[in-house]
Amino acid sequence: MLYDIAIAGAGVTGGMLARELTRYRLSCCILEKENDVAMGASKANSGIIHGGFDPEPGTLKARLNAEGVPLLYKAAQELHVPYRRNGSLVVAFDQTEEDTLQRLYERGLQNGIAQMRLISGEEARALEPNLSPEVTKALLVPTAGIICPYQLTIAAVGNAMDNGAELLRNFEIVSIEKEEYFTLHAKDGRTVQARFLVNCAGTSADRIAEMLNDRFYTVIPRAGEYLLLDKTEGKTVSHTIFQVPTKNGKGVLVTPTADGNLLLGPTASVVQEAEDTRTTPAGLDFVETFAKRSVPAVNTRNVITSFAGVRASEQGGDFIIRPSGKVDGFLHIAAIDSPGLSSCVAIAKYAVEQLRGMGLSAEPNPDFNGEREDPHAFRKMSDAEKDAFIKQHPAYGRIVCRCETVSEGEIRDSLHRNPAAADVDGVKRRTRSGMGRCQGGFCAPYVMRLIAEETRCPMEQVTKKGGRSAMVFGEEEEA
Ligand SMILES: Cc1cc2nc3c(=O)[nH]c(=O)nc-3n(C[C@H](O)[C@H](O)[C@H](O)COP(=O)(O)OP(=O)(O)OC[C@H]3O[C@@H](n4cnc5c(N)ncnc54)[C@H](O)[C@@H]3O)c2cc1C
Repeated sequence: MLYDIAIAGAGVTGGMLARELTRYRLSCCILEKENDVAMGASKANSGIIHGGFDPEPGTLKARLNAEGVPLLYKAAQELHVPYRRNGSLVVAFDQTEEDTLQRLYERGLQNGIAQMRLISGEEARALEPNLSPEVTKALLVPTAGIICPYQLTIAAVGNAMDNGAELLRNFEIVSIEKEEYFTLHAKDGRTVQARFLVNCAGTSADRIAEMLNDRFYTVIPRAGEYLLLDKTEGKTVSHTIFQVPTKNGKGVLVTPTADGNLLLGPTASVVQEAEDTRTTPAGLDFVETFAKRSVPAVNTRNVITSFAGVRASEQGGDFIIRPSGKVDGFLHIAAIDSPGLSSCVAIAKYAVEQLRGMGLSAEPNPDFNGEREDPHAFRKMSDAEKDAFIKQHPAYGRIVCRCETVSEGEIRDSLHRNPAAADVDGVKRRTRSGMGRCQGGFCAPYVMRLIAEETRCPMEQVTKKGGRSAMVFGEEEEA
């Protein structure tokens, strides 16, 4: 099959770019090595819509963060992705950190970030009563927010697919040739051809570049470990609380999540392998200690899980979004570490401009519809509306995940809506079944049975996350 554009990688960058490209009459495919979308950094990050004061003025990061925030709020509304404009506070504990806050404030002004304010420790505690009494000053950024990063990615890819883009899963690109067109070879022998190729492969972007003999950057994988707390702790703070950034990143934050939990983290440590998403006792101790420095009331007895994500950092420190100097039709979108999530819509629009400059002719697609059906519409109904709906659709009256109150109807739907969930973790990210206190201990077998029924496959073929992650073995006994 020959496409106008192939996108390598279905993270938030590739997904948002695909959505942007379907605004035009173009054929587009997204090639993803995993069994689902949002399996890289876009699954495991802080989920913060950064205000934009942090990037170095004059960089692409500074520009696309500032442009990206309002665009992201708009896209989140159109795509029905959970988000909240909760504002952020960067807190200082002494004169040296206060001086850093002042520099951040000035940098924010240079980046065109409006409405920021330096406030006293007392004012900060009036906004956040659980803040440490040791906090002496804070930078308040009311435009910052929180968003669910994997639901955003799922929604962006889903909306792109609703508008004609194709997603090829388990398509691990292992080699690429360029003659008249790009020919992309997958590990399993499939091939795809395209006129233009966009590299959105996150921590593997340098490997993709290498395949075309155009590797001029090296991704430095930097892991961030987190602790996630139960929803009982979700109101410990209402703003996102940062400490002053260091050369290693934005420091440990304490934040509510868009889904109502409390999140602590991340660390920032270089790892050998980009796939290394293990958490470590030392990393999690560090997170706990530093989170309690800002918010001593943090109750880590209610931690429900820990996880890690890996940033695709690069020595230069800026996003790399530019056409290849060697291979016509090849666009690099690499080193998209933080604030890549906050900037994703702006990155997609900037990339389309680059592609046009590279000769892509793009006529508007009159059928484009940027609105996605709300997958959580049932949850938002009143009790009376739910009663009426359940009478019509009884599966919505059967609760599968008790912790998060997720119904059988929502799970069955998630197995058909673009991009359909294909495994237990995919259902989890779409519906939140298994995201609660018991972490799927109760509902996982029920979810597996629903996947088996809806996809017409035996239980032993149902996987946790694709590949060799089957959850049961042997033949099922007749009931
Ligand atoms: C710990 C951490 C905290 C962060 N916090 C924030 C934050 O609060 N706010 C913010 O704005 N940003 C944050 N970021 C940055 C943000 O998460 C990233 O900028 C964003 O997710 C990058 O998306 P991506 O699509 O470029 O990469 P990814 O999400 O990593 O996607 C790349 C995709 O390419 C696929 N792929 C790789 N190789 C191949 C291949 N050979 N063939 C086919 N597919 C392939 C991968 O499977 C993956 O799905 C954070 C990142 C981390 C790790």
